[in-house]
Amino acid sequence: MLWADRIAGEIRDTRTPQGGKSFLIRDEKTLSGRVHVGSMRGVAIHGLMAEVLSEYGIPNTFQFELNDFDPFDSIPGYLDADTFREHLGKPLYAVPSPEAGFKNYTEYFGDEFVQVHKKAGFVPSYYRATELYQSGKMDALIKTALERASNIRRILQEVSGSVKDESWLPVSVVCQMCGKMMTTRAYDYDGETVGYSCDRSPDECMPCGHSGRVAPWKGTTKLFWKVDWAAKWVAQGVDIEGGGKDHSTRGGSRDVANHICREVFGAEPPFDIPYEFFLVGGKKMSSSKGRGSSAKDMGDLFPPELFRLALIGKDIREQIDVDPSGESVPRLYDWYDELAEGVRAGAADDRTRLYALCELPKNRAALSAPWQMRFREVAFIVQMAHLSLAGEAARVKRQALTEEETRALEVRARYAKFWLATYAPEEFKYELQEEMPEVSLSNIQKKALAVLADYLQASERTGEEIHLRLHEMKTEIPIQPKELFQAIYRIFLNRDSGPKAGWFLAGLPRDFVIKRLKEAVE
Ligand SMILES: [Zn+2]
Repeated sequence: MLWADRIAGEIRDTRTPQGGKSFLIRDEKTLSGRVHVGSMRGVAIHGLMAEVLSEYGIPNTFQFELNDFDPFDSIPGYLDADTFREHLGKPLYAVPSPEAGFKNYTEYFGDEFVQVHKKAGFVPSYYRATELYQSGKMDALIKTALERASNIRRILQEVSGSVKDESWLPVSVVCQMCGKMMTTRAYDYDGETVGYSCDRSPDECMPCGHSGRVAPWKGTTKLFWKVDWAAKWVAQGVDIEGGGKDHSTRGGSRDVANHICREVFGAEPPFDIPYEFFLVGGKKMSSSKGRGSSAKDMGDLFPPELFRLALIGKDIREQIDVDPSGESVPRLYDWYDELAEGVRAGAADDRTRLYALCELPKNRAALSAPWQMRFREVAFIVQMAHLSLAGEAARVKRQALTEEETRALEVRARYAKFWLATYAPEEFKYELQEEMPEVSLSNIQKKALAVLADYLQASERTGEEIHLRLHEMKTEIPIQPKELFQAIYRIFLNRDSGPKAGWFLAGLPRDFVIKRLKEAVE
């Protein structure tokens, strides 16, 4: 059983919605900069849960929080440090957008992230953390947390080993003078207000030295992260919320938030779905800030159903690893094509279920799985100016393409071209040599090419026929397969490896091939 059905089934069998009627599924992302693709795994897991529960006839809503109320604690490398330094320590909503046209920093990066959700077909309803705080919905929980601050300190110490002093309170105050929140320390809650002083200087963050008192309601303060997490569950009545592996260890943030939820707020934490990392080229989020690792970069690389396969294809207990500049891109297409083949063969198993889940819910009832040319082949043909993609596809399929197959082929070609122009490694890039390149060939290789030239000159040959002839030549000449194919790739592509040789040669103009073979033998 696929993980999505396993977990949705468990929820159906063990939980009832807190609100009585409908499950509330929640996920959030702090918009501290361009969002890493790892955060898309959470969106996809929660989004798919919503889809599958709906399919089971279980009402639910998926709410996604665009968190704009955490502190701006570091300047991403792609932004100008001199421009943004003065904003360090402020709440993210108070940091300006890097580009005109957006209300603030979080709206700019949030918009980019939301576009990626849309592309993958996940459509939660969105709200911002500031709406939750400024509307006063968090006030009762802030009050409870302040009253039970010693209880929270005890939990932090017992569960995560973090020691706070006696005066510590679980809120950070937004300084009324300088507007920063990382620089403040709150103490002395008197039931109405908290005292604070703006005198901490974490990292490059400069405090203003102000001290005063503030009524901690309606967004003047924010609960610290693990308390904030638990309070949001209670404020909204969250039924289902998973978290990445980094949060899910014993003594980690989820563990602490669960304790706070039960022991401070007296509520049951949501159903947890802990999930593994989404690696980019084998690297974790923290160490892979490079090209291709953002949610947008990864989303741009694949059509929606392939992007969904990357996100949901692996069990939540397994790592995902996609390297835009490696084999994993063509391999993902191969995986998708295998699933499609199962659907065309009329199978009904985990693989066909996965194929269905890669489609948007509205397309699942009448599932279509058109034949597609392998991505590797498409990526090769789009680089060969003399080849017609449709013609080659029909040749591989041995039948004319249907309209649907033609449309699918065009989409695949567009993504193949994009990949070749952006991330594809050298081994996937081919350039047909218009002139004979300077190559050195052995006598055996020359002999083989001469035999091949004669064979092609005798009559028009198909890819299959050339393929079989090449294999005969191995024993007939005799020549090692590697030497034979290398000779062909060298004289046509000026490299040592390439696509399936028989099929490749059949796709080239016959006169051109014969002429080149003869030149090589001279
Ligand atoms: Zn200040």
